[in-house]
Amino acid sequence: MAETKITKRSEDYSRWYTDVIAAAELADYAPVKGCMIIRPNGYAIWEKMQQALDGMFKETGHQNAYFPLFIPESFLQKEAEHVEGFAPEVALVTHAGGAKLEEPLVIRPTSETIIWNSYRNWIQSYRDLPLLINQWCNVVRWEMRTRLFLRTTEFLWQEGHTAHASYEDAEEETLRMLGIYRRFAEEYMAMPVIEGRKTEKEKFAGADHTYSIEAMMGDGKALQSGTSHHLAQNFAKAFDVTFQTEKGTREYVYATSWGLSARMIGALIMAHGDDNGIVIPPRLATIQVAVVPIFRKPEERERVMQAVEKFTAPFKAAGIGFKIDDRDQHSPGWKFNEWEKRGIPLRIEVGPKDLEKNQVMLARRDNREKTPASQDGLEQTVRRMLETIQSSMYERAREFREKHSHRVDDYSKFNEMLDGEGGFLWSHWCGSGECEERVKDETKATIRNIPTGAETEEGKCIKCGAPSGRRVIFARAY
Ligand SMILES: [Zn+2]
Repeated sequence: MAETKITKRSEDYSRWYTDVIAAAELADYAPVKGCMIIRPNGYAIWEKMQQALDGMFKETGHQNAYFPLFIPESFLQKEAEHVEGFAPEVALVTHAGGAKLEEPLVIRPTSETIIWNSYRNWIQSYRDLPLLINQWCNVVRWEMRTRLFLRTTEFLWQEGHTAHASYEDAEEETLRMLGIYRRFAEEYMAMPVIEGRKTEKEKFAGADHTYSIEAMMGDGKALQSGTSHHLAQNFAKAFDVTFQTEKGTREYVYATSWGLSARMIGALIMAHGDDNGIVIPPRLATIQVAVVPIFRKPEERERVMQAVEKFTAPFKAAGIGFKIDDRDQHSPGWKFNEWEKRGIPLRIEVGPKDLEKNQVMLARRDNREKTPASQDGLEQTVRRMLETIQSSMYERAREFREKHSHRVDDYSKFNEMLDGEGGFLWSHWCGSGECEERVKDETKATIRNIPTGAETEEGKCIKCGAPSGRRVIFARAY
């Protein structure tokens, strides 16, 4: 196995990021530029993410389905904004089976069009609504500048597509799913996020409006971590999907769509990683605990392993994912390093000296603290410690975000801060797309969102000085 040295995070953030991925064996570059290979350690995190989200989708009445990868090109043309937004990123299949196709096929960049084409047949009456469907799949968006997990030409995600009888019902669904994304980010990823509405310029192509959750990464940049779109009747009109109302009239159906992708693995790395590698929050770790027995002689090995078998016996029933690393070819020190690089939340070290005291050493990955613990009832101690790790990871990320969030009212200060420590700049904005665009051109900062529930406050636009009623979040983003 090749050793990967991790560049210091403070030295070169972007190299640190790719080194962490290599060291933890999360992903590889693919032969086709912009594509990636997700290795077992990376895929295990994605599976945990899927389980958590899928559970929440089903609790709220959604069902999974699957629609085809290929979409007739004409489908994309039916919604004007949608085709304009996605055209530059679309990959087309023009030849197949040794012949030119009559109509080129789009490799799905997202599935609104093909799904709403089916909904025309599935929805006749108000009794068919709401229709709550999700799909887990891959999509393709041709990208020029790519980065493992964060921006790749093909990526894994889930996309929900729901149909409703009224604008209000669709709005409620849009916000419900945004709330689920927020819960997922906070409770599973230990990553605080800010919910809010995207500006007109930043909304999804074809949506009435878009909401997002935005998280802060370890370098102060923002990462959009999930989006939920209210599509109004745009796709129903494009695909002629109407329903009979209770009153007997016919109306176009209202739609939502919402998605979260495997870029969350990149978010996880950047929100929690340190100079020793990735740190996986316990709730997303398949292996939560690595047990490293320490021994030199065969006689010690036997005694230590006996104790390990005994104290780990109740782990499975206690819901603890663990791995006993009894490989003889590696030293304990090598193993400690190995499990740290892989971001395993907790390590149990146990040697002959610990046996004399009926104890083990617990080594936390998040803050690297070591504490002794009794072997009796260890499953309870470990469970509690995993919960502590989960909550302190969240707390640490929240403190970091607070420390790097500032209310800024002066444009030169605004520029200075972006070039310095970065972070979230809460500034006033008049609401004009022109100001938004100019700020973006001049500073590379975008409006991440207009936070929901933020207090109203009289102020002046950071760019033009026109009156503004509230602050929005500006940041440079991935
Ligand atoms: Zn302005």
